[in-house]
Amino acid sequence: MVYLDNAATTKPCTEAVNAAIEAMTENFGNPSSLHRAGLNALLAMDKARKNIAASIGADADNILFTSGATESNNLALRGASAAYGKKRRRIVASAVEHASVDETLSDLENKGFEVIRVSPRDDGRFYAEDFMAVCNDDTVLLTMMYVNNETGYILPVKETFNSAKKRFKDIITHTDCVQAYMKLPVKANALGADLISLSGHKIHGVKGVGALYIRKGVRLIPVVTGGKQEKGIRSGTESVPLICAFGAAVEKLEPTIKERFDRVSALKDRLTGLVSSIEGVEVNSPADGSPYVVNISAAGKRSEIMLHYLESKEIYVSSGSACSKGQQSGVLGQFGINGKRADSALRISMTAETTEAEIEQFASSLREGIVNVRG
Ligand code: PMP
Repeated sequence: MVYLDNAATTKPCTEAVNAAIEAMTENFGNPSSLHRAGLNALLAMDKARKNIAASIGADADNILFTSGATESNNLALRGASAAYGKKRRRIVASAVEHASVDETLSDLENKGFEVIRVSPRDDGRFYAEDFMAVCNDDTVLLTMMYVNNETGYILPVKETFNSAKKRFKDIITHTDCVQAYMKLPVKANALGADLISLSGHKIHGVKGVGALYIRKGVRLIPVVTGGKQEKGIRSGTESVPLICAFGAAVEKLEPTIKERFDRVSALKDRLTGLVSSIEGVEVNSPADGSPYVVNISAAGKRSEIMLHYLESKEIYVSSGSACSKGQQSGVLGQFGINGKRADSALRISMTAETTEAEIEQFASSLREGIVNVRG
């Protein structure tokens, strides 16, 4: 199998699996229990919290665990708009957010917030000044993903957030760092972020766990209420095994961010070089995007048909975003990729374990597929 769908999910690393097993077989207590079994679970969870916090330059106190980035995004946007949005009613966002942000914004829009979605310019690029042009004293929230999950485009989060914070000191900044975390440096202070969403399963952890960084002093109204776990902001017994797996994956990956980035950059160069030599194939990702995600258009052949052709060769890629289940999200259109080019888009997403031979195998099967498939 050639697995090139790592933006959808990654294979859990051995360290993550072992940490989850240990939490299920030894530290299986409820971390809220007052006895020793509970304390052991709490200590295991705290270790993960510390690892994740340290990786983004934060304190363990600033990290809250959730069921995944979808929940982190919901909590960040709903929680902050409920806490700070009585008077300030504008929310500024990028127009290429993941559905877990975009749909949440649509809901907030239905509840009376004014949501302004900023698009890339005709050159396919975002500019901090375009966000600044629509931020005003009425703006409660500014949200921008760091790396786009469909194209790998890197948004100017740091520049935008720092400018916005300078001009509007009460504005709350949120960034969905799911596709950036453990791939590019993600540091809360440097980014100027008040809220950061992270996911475990995109970084060789296990599905069903995420985190939300909350800057000290930022208040969120809970979405889920109950037993007051996670400082009362996110009730529900924490999934200690998944949290420990998340922490173990971070501990493993954190020291090698730069090394892996360079390695995957070389793989991206190889991939774009190979596919560009196939007639009709276009590369949709920018050269300076995250190397982990490469979006291409397969010479007008419908994405789904090509995806299944590749699947028949045991090569797994994605058409657009996995979360949209084959439905076009409109994000490619925002980047100026429309019509047949969008209908034939494929997303190839790698890890540092992807090999050059796998990339070559993909490219030669793509070449064959373009000749062999109809549609
Ligand atoms: N944001 C982005 C950018 C993503 O790529 C994803 C996963 N497709 C999510 C949020 C949702 O993450 P999770 O699966 O942890 O809910």
